[in-house]
Amino acid sequence: MHKFRILLGLFLFAFWFAKAQDIRVEPPNWWVGMTQSELQLLIRADDIGAFQVKLKKGRNQLIKKVHQADSPNYLFIDLDLSSVKKPEKLVFEFSNETSRFEYEYELRKLEFGSDKIEGFNSGDAIYLITPDRFVNGDESNDSVPGLKEQTVDRSHDYKRHGGDITGIIQAIPYLDDLGMTAVWSSPLLINDMAEQSYHGYAITDFYKVDPRFGSLQEYRLLADELRNRKMKLIMDQVNNHCGSNHWWMSDLPFSDWINGQEAFLDSGEITYSNHRRTTIQDPYAAQKDKDVMLEGWFVSAMPDLNHRNPFMARYLIQNSLWWIETLGLGGIRQDTYPYNDPTFMAEWAQAIQTQYPQFTIVGEEWSYNPLRVGYWQQSAPNVDGYESHLPSVFDFPLQKALVDALTNEESWDKGLVEWYTALSNDFYYPSPKALVFMGDNHDMDRLYTQLGEDIKLHHMALALMAMAPRTPQLYYGTEILMQNTAKPHDHGLIRSDFPGGWPGDEINAFSKVGLTAEQKATQILFTKLFQFRNRSEAMRFGETLHYAPNDGVYVISRFFENERLVLFLNKNEEDRQIDLSDYKELQGYDRYYDPINEVESSASELIRVQSRSFLLIQMKP
Ligand code: CA
Repeated sequence: MHKFRILLGLFLFAFWFAKAQDIRVEPPNWWVGMTQSELQLLIRADDIGAFQVKLKKGRNQLIKKVHQADSPNYLFIDLDLSSVKKPEKLVFEFSNETSRFEYEYELRKLEFGSDKIEGFNSGDAIYLITPDRFVNGDESNDSVPGLKEQTVDRSHDYKRHGGDITGIIQAIPYLDDLGMTAVWSSPLLINDMAEQSYHGYAITDFYKVDPRFGSLQEYRLLADELRNRKMKLIMDQVNNHCGSNHWWMSDLPFSDWINGQEAFLDSGEITYSNHRRTTIQDPYAAQKDKDVMLEGWFVSAMPDLNHRNPFMARYLIQNSLWWIETLGLGGIRQDTYPYNDPTFMAEWAQAIQTQYPQFTIVGEEWSYNPLRVGYWQQSAPNVDGYESHLPSVFDFPLQKALVDALTNEESWDKGLVEWYTALSNDFYYPSPKALVFMGDNHDMDRLYTQLGEDIKLHHMALALMAMAPRTPQLYYGTEILMQNTAKPHDHGLIRSDFPGGWPGDEINAFSKVGLTAEQKATQILFTKLFQFRNRSEAMRFGETLHYAPNDGVYVISRFFENERLVLFLNKNEEDRQIDLSDYKELQGYDRYYDPINEVESSASELIRVQSRSFLLIQMKP
């Protein structure tokens, strides 16, 4: 009898252990004292839907509701944590007629909470990184057994090259020196896809860091190391879709978890998005076009998530809150904003703002039409009443204007006037300075390529990026003239390896070994501009005044309290003498300081701006 009991005990222990191993609970932990005290746990384990759930240690009243899903292998548990005042471990007991097991769930102390989370703003300069292509700081993670794409091949534009989180950490002093104050890396979560897993946008587990990029601990170390230098970490998140190898694709919890689920599961049939993003605002758009836009898939490798399923909506909101609190984030960049359900996205952004009022999210709407970009910014006066709760949007219209202004020949309606006119659209945006303005990004031709590899234009573009009343974002390598001219629009080439990021690289942008004179000059100019920007309240937060371009010259001023800055752009093939008496608001100063050339001079009515160049001056009383 005694022996039997021991055997039975061993058997039950083994059963319990096996169960505990196979269970997935998400979010994997939570915190006490969150503004929103309700939490919904996703539980996945074989046949878990038929189990009873209890919380032990007298905590059962925290369970508000247990939901079964369409699949028998899921439960969703609603908890009300409003009565929980200090950290504790909740002990769940799952039982059915033949078995029973426990699961410990941790409620932690808030580390950051509402007070310590601050999002990026116009005082920041954001450096965008494609992590697989930036710095390979740890060669031991280049190939991870068990993942579908294991080879590293630097000669192939669309294969993995080995860059990682440790590499970004190693580069932080360099980025700080460049004057960058925030880092946005494209997604670092696992993409266990057979091909092109390097880009990061086909996430196969929303709670797991890709081991080829590193671990959760390394991601947190990146955030901490940035924080130590008062720099911010911006996380790239994707609500719209997951990767087709996402763990839930083999057993979806509900019959409407992804869009087009029935047809896809029955026959593999996929309806693709029509990409007609105008249907979202178009008062005349047919419902069918609107539906296909929102519910169609991007590509077959990226199933489109159904945000109208309330469990999915909750899952994504909690996932974002979990990452903000776990890493102490300084911002989220949200992918393909208009492809998401707009009602859900407003709910998502509002939930984040409610918890973290100083946080910032920037959404991607790749449109050159300011009306459509402005539509997504919070407090926009939208006639359909839509309120996004989204603090920032990428300024694609100004990006295009920047390139057009510099590359088009001057005429009545072309050239610098295109920038001048584009900036005038600021009357429409609720918060123009909050918009993120970039010369390029990981999806478009490199700025230097867009400018025809004209270094003078490139330098003028950098000056405008620092000076514009915006939050500037620079793509990695812009400071050393990285280009993709050989293959326009080629994503693989646009995301080329950063020189010096790999052991043995002959050219090294960190040590400057092997850089051309033009690259060195650009790196120095870039550093001067953005380091100066970090010291200049006028550039970061000031008011703006500009003058209509005249004779190939454009003048823009930023001012904040006693500080006044003026940027002169001269597109002409000859130097230009600027007569300040033509610019009433710029007069009355005794001295000028030129922070790029580091010269101070006494005021004179005539200011010389070299051909195809810019002059930045700080005016001093
Ligand atoms: Ca690596």
